[in-house]
Amino acid sequence: MSADLRGVRSFFRRLFEKRTLQEIEQSLLPSQEDMPPSVPRGDAPGTISPEESDRRWDILDANESAKHQLLDPMTREQMNAYCNNIENFIGTVKVPVGLAGPLRVRGLFANGDYYVPLATSEAALVASYSRGAQSITKAGGATVAMMWEGVTRAPVFIFDNLVEVGKFMGWASEQADSFKDIAASTTRHGQLLRTCFNLEGNHVYLIFEFITGDASGQNMVTIATDAICRHILEKSPVQPAYWFVEANHSGDKKASYMSFQNVRGKKVTAEVTLPPEILKNHLKTSASKMMDYYQAGVIGGVMSGNIGLQGHYANGMAALFIACGQDAACVAESSVGITRMERTDGDSLYASVTLPNLIVGTVGGGTGLPSQSACLDILQLKGAGNASALAEVCAALVLAGELSISAALSSHGFTNAHQSLARGPNQGA
Ligand code: NAP
Repeated sequence: MSADLRGVRSFFRRLFEKRTLQEIEQSLLPSQEDMPPSVPRGDAPGTISPEESDRRWDILDANESAKHQLLDPMTREQMNAYCNNIENFIGTVKVPVGLAGPLRVRGLFANGDYYVPLATSEAALVASYSRGAQSITKAGGATVAMMWEGVTRAPVFIFDNLVEVGKFMGWASEQADSFKDIAASTTRHGQLLRTCFNLEGNHVYLIFEFITGDASGQNMVTIATDAICRHILEKSPVQPAYWFVEANHSGDKKASYMSFQNVRGKKVTAEVTLPPEILKNHLKTSASKMMDYYQAGVIGGVMSGNIGLQGHYANGMAALFIACGQDAACVAESSVGITRMERTDGDSLYASVTLPNLIVGTVGGGTGLPSQSACLDILQLKGAGNASALAEVCAALVLAGELSISAALSSHGFTNAHQSLARGPNQGA
């Protein structure tokens, strides 16, 4: 977080070029003058009203064309479909969707050739993942295994002292069955798998781990955990001074060593071996160049203090998450993992990715929204029974991305690909 002296000095010089210290001071002071209108929130529960949406636009200093872009006729017609996913609705943003593939997946749950919709505004991303996917497919496909799963919620109970902590833990450690029953009363598809304890001074963190069916499960585990917490408050022989349903110990929406070493969502691994001709003809590289790059990348990653070791899982994953109605913020934990590459049989290349925190679902969340549901349909992974397959497709896609970016960097094609694809004739128009 530190900045060097020259950087600080140059920042201040630039700042004072256009404004005086007094003007800056004035602009930083809190002001309660001319309060702006609040965002209208008049939608009835479970609905989005066109009139309320118009009222929100009325408070904006935006022109009609901005409104038309976000609240186009189709969005207006479908607006109620979004009622469980957004508050203060004013429209939808259109993110371009490209198709990568075919991606052959030989998995425990996903088995087939997939054309993968990717929503992104980064030029070269779809082309790169598509190239990686085609290379994998030509090699016979990625072998993929979703190995185990679990989504956690971690409430904390704060007691006055360790004696009370001991009394509480003695009681709580006998409650496994009742915790499971209470969780089961809140959900048909979720199931409490295990309860762990973490103790810090007079704070007791309970870590509840659930399986969540075909839902990614964050709401499901929160609702179940809240019910367990209320049972604890009602039945525990010793009352906490205070408590919270979550205290930042579940790994939700952040990369953490804890999740990396365990599992959050689904743990998936994918592998492929690429023969020399595919490396040469499709990826414009060789096993030896890939290994040179891989080794330099390992050291670079270690020196950067990465959690795990990978090139750019977040890239294709974010695009897949946005296209398919996943919670894009969960890319934070999902994009942690390990990429490994080895030269085998002379000039072939073995590559694997392992992702211990893949949070995806095919039911609930944003998966039922109009265009997101259509993207799941393209993958033929819409609805119940498909979450594990989606996780496997996601891992295979991530593997495609790792291969393609490493090939581009190892053969010095990386800059040119971005330059030629991102700086087209419309650039800067
Ligand atoms: P959800 O849409 O809240 O719940 C899934 C729903 O689908 C449940 O009502 C579930 O019923 C039902 N369902 C039907 N068939 C199912 C099947 N085969 N498998 C699983 N469920 C099935 O979604 P969620 O996955 O629990 O939560 C994801 C959402 O939570 C995302 O939108 C994410 O942005 C948000 N989120 C919430 C928090 C939080 O702390 N609350 C944190 C991060 C993200 P049953 O429950 O009866 O099984």
